[in-house]
Amino acid sequence: MGRGPIPGVRRAGAAVCCGAPVFLLKSIDLIALLGLFVQAFLAWIFVAVLMRVRRSEPASKAVADYSRAFLALAGALTIMSFRFFISHDRVPNNDAWADGRWAAVLSYMGYGGLKTLFGLFLLRGSHQFVGHESPRWLVRAWWPLVLAMTCAPMVIPHIEDLLALQAPMMIGCAIASVRVLPRDSAIGSGMLLVRLALMGLALSWGIHAVAVLWHTSIPLLRYVLAFNSFIDLAVQLTLGTGLIISVLLATHARMRAAERERAQLQRTIDRDEKLRALGTLVSGVAHELNNPLTVILGYAELLDGQDGAAAAKVVGEQAERCRAIVRNLSALAGQRRRSVAELSLQDLVDRIVRGIQRGSSPDAPVMRVLPVGPLRLISDRIGLEQVLTNLVVNAMQASPPRGEIVLAVRATPDGAEFTVSDQGPGVPPELRARLFEPFFTTKDPGKGTGLGLSIAHAIVRANGGTIAIEDGPGGRGACFRVTVPNSELAAIGDGDTPAPRSRPGRLLVIDDDDGVRDVVRGQAERRGWSVTEARSAEEALGLAVQFGQVDTVLCDLRMPGIGGIGLHDRLQQQDPEVLQRFVFFTGDLASPESAAFSRRCTRPLVEKPFDFDELFTLLARNAVARAV
Ligand code: ADP
Repeated sequence: MGRGPIPGVRRAGAAVCCGAPVFLLKSIDLIALLGLFVQAFLAWIFVAVLMRVRRSEPASKAVADYSRAFLALAGALTIMSFRFFISHDRVPNNDAWADGRWAAVLSYMGYGGLKTLFGLFLLRGSHQFVGHESPRWLVRAWWPLVLAMTCAPMVIPHIEDLLALQAPMMIGCAIASVRVLPRDSAIGSGMLLVRLALMGLALSWGIHAVAVLWHTSIPLLRYVLAFNSFIDLAVQLTLGTGLIISVLLATHARMRAAERERAQLQRTIDRDEKLRALGTLVSGVAHELNNPLTVILGYAELLDGQDGAAAAKVVGEQAERCRAIVRNLSALAGQRRRSVAELSLQDLVDRIVRGIQRGSSPDAPVMRVLPVGPLRLISDRIGLEQVLTNLVVNAMQASPPRGEIVLAVRATPDGAEFTVSDQGPGVPPELRARLFEPFFTTKDPGKGTGLGLSIAHAIVRANGGTIAIEDGPGGRGACFRVTVPNSELAAIGDGDTPAPRSRPGRLLVIDDDDGVRDVVRGQAERRGWSVTEARSAEEALGLAVQFGQVDTVLCDLRMPGIGGIGLHDRLQQQDPEVLQRFVFFTGDLASPESAAFSRRCTRPLVEKPFDFDELFTLLARNAVARAV
C-alpha cells in the first residue's frame, strides 16, 4: 500500500516537475504512483461509508474500530501521496533518504505510525466483531508499538529496512484477525471476503518483504515492488467491501433478531393483558352472577316449603338478573342481536321509571321525567331501555340523598335525543375520556364492574347513535346525552307494536338438550299449545310429515349432526315453504358460526335464555303470519 515504489515515485515526480513526460509515460513507476493515488482515494471512500454505517450503528464497537482502521489507512496513503509533491525535488533518489531531511522523515514517521494503527484497529475490530475484548498483550503493546513504528524512520535510514520492519507486524495483525473472525457463519459472503482479504494482506506483505530485501540481487523483484501497489489496491478493495457487507449483514441479522424478540415480547404482553382483562371480567361476572345465584338457590330450597309461590317469584326475578348479565356481556362483545321496531318513547320512559322505582328507599333521589309527548322512534327497544336504565342507575348512585335526576327526551331531525342529568359530583374532565372503557370504575371493589357505560356505548354505536358526557345544568353534576337515529324497520320485530291476537297451535321443538325441551313443552302446554319433540335435525327430518302438520317450529342451532344451521340450509334448497314456519334459537351467538348465520338467516333468531312470554308471542305471531 504505497510503500514499494517510493524511489520510483520520486523519480516519476521529479520527471513531472522537470517536464519530461515521455520519460514518465514509459516509466513503470508512474503506474505505481497512480496505484497509490487510487488506493488513497478508495480508502477515503471506505472511511466515508464506514462512518455512515457507524452513525446508524453507534453502539457497534467493531464498526467504530473498522472505521478508525480505514481512517488510519487513508491518512497513511494520503501522506505518502503528498510526500511525493513536497520532497521529490529535495530527495531525488533513494540515497538521499539517508540524509534524513525533515519532509521525508516526517512523512515516513506519519506513514509508519498510521499503518501500525491500521493493523491494530483491524485486529481489535475483528475481536469486537465476534463480541470479545482484545487480549491484554495487544492493549499493552498498542501505544509503544505505534510509537516505535513512528520513530523508526529517525533511526532507520533505508526505506527497504523500514518496510522489512513493518512487514512482520502487518502479517501478524492480518493472520491474527483471520484467526479471530468466524469461519462459516450466518454472516456469510461478507465475512468470506474479509477473511480472503486478510489472507491477501498477509501474503502481499510477505511478497513485499521478500522483494525489498532481495530486489537488488534479483532485478525482476523490482517489478514486483512496482506492481505491489495494485495487489494492495485489490486487497484493500476486497477488505473494505467485505467489512461493509459483513457489518451490514450483521446489523440486519441483529435487527431481525431484535424484531423477533420484540414480537415475542408483544405476544407475551398481549397474552398477559388478555388474561388480566379476562381475570377482571371473570371476577366481575362471578360477582354479578353469584349474588342472584345465591338468592335463586336459597329460594329454590324454600320452594319445597310452604311459601312456594313467593319463592318462585323471587327465583324468576333473580334468574332474569342472570340473563341480563349474560346479555350485557354479549352486548359488550358486539354479539347482541338488535330487534328493531317502532316504539312509543313515552312507553319506553315509563317502563324505565317503573323498573327503577321498584324497591327504592324513601331517601332515594327523586326522578323527574320531562313531558315526552307522542314521540315515536324506530329503534332497538331492549337496547335503548338497557342504556337509559344504566344511565339512570348511575345517576342515582352518584346523587346525594333526595337529589334530583332529570330524564328528558326530545325529537331530532333524524331520531331522538335523551338526556339524563343529576346533582352528583359530576365527572372530572381528565376521567371523561376513560369513562366508556370496559372495566373503568371509580366505585369500591364489589360495588362497580365498570361495564355499564362501555355496554351502553356499544349498544348506542350499534344503533348508529352517540353517547357523551357533559356538565349537568348550571355546571353541577353530570349530564349524559344520547342521540339515536331512526333505524330501518326490519320485517320481523318484537317492539311494542301490538301483536295480532293469536291462538295457540301445534309446536315442534327441536333441541338435543332434554332440559330445554322439557321446559319449552311445559311452558307451551301451559299456554295451550300441543307439542312434538325432536332431539336432532335428522330426527326432525325423519318426521318430515310433521313439518306440514305443525303451525310453527322452534329449532336450536347447535346440535350434534347437521344442527339447526344445516337443517335451515337444506330446507332453504328443498322446501323453502316449510322453512317459513321456523323460529331458531341459540345460547351461543358468540361463536363465529352462529354470528355468521345470524347475518344471513331470514327467520327470527331468539337468544337463550328466553323470556317465555316474548317467545310465545313470537311463535304465535309466526304461526299467524303463516296462516294469513
Ligand atoms: P360502574 O357503575 O360499574 O362503575 P359504569 O361503566 O356504569 O360502571 O361507570 C363507570 C364510571 O363512570 C363509574 O365508576 C363512575 O365513576 C362514573 N360515572 C358514571 N355515571 C356517573 C354519574 N352520573 N356521575 C358521576 N360519575 C359517573
